Amino acid sequence: MTIAIYPGSFDPITNGHLDITVRAAKLFEKLIIGVYESPNKHPLFTAAERVELVRKAIKNMPNVEVESFNTLTIEFAKKKKALAMVRGLRMGADFEREFDMAMMNKRLFPDLELVCLMASADYQFLSSTLLKEAATLGGDIKNLVPQHVATALRKKMREAK
Ligand code: ADP
Repeated sequence: MTIAIYPGSFDPITNGHLDITVRAAKLFEKLIIGVYESPNKHPLFTAAERVELVRKAIKNMPNVEVESFNTLTIEFAKKKKALAMVRGLRMGADFEREFDMAMMNKRLFPDLELVCLMASADYQFLSSTLLKEAATLGGDIKNLVPQHVATALRKKMREAK
């Protein structure tokens, strides 16, 4: 079976992430979204909350799964018997960062292939960071995330006040 992982912080999952997920799910028999716990990034949502938000977003995608991890990404890939790692590339900074990480990962785990999908035009400028900023300032985020994520974000914002 061709298995790929799609790792990231997903704090929270956006329509940009979902677009990559839908497209990658057509390329592999199984796609496993890996939610990196990333404690040093001080995420807004806990790892368990981020996994739950992803789980709801992928409920109609039979060959997509989600779980969290707190190891090196390549260790997660090995554990899952993945042959590829999927990442999304937006214009600008993503490429350089991905390139550096890919070089390092290739040294550590030469058999794992990196598959980068270009972000769709509609989501080029969408990041979880910008999304959180927009939500904090009361911006309209309904076209940028699934509805349950917008609801969870509004709740977090209220709790933070
Ligand atoms: P990380 O902390 O690893 O960057 P993210 O959750 O921000 O985790 O992103 C996970 C992956 O999804 C990365 O490959 C990132 O480039 C990609 N990604 C994020 N936002 C978008 C988007 N709007 N369109 C396409 N890919 C995206």
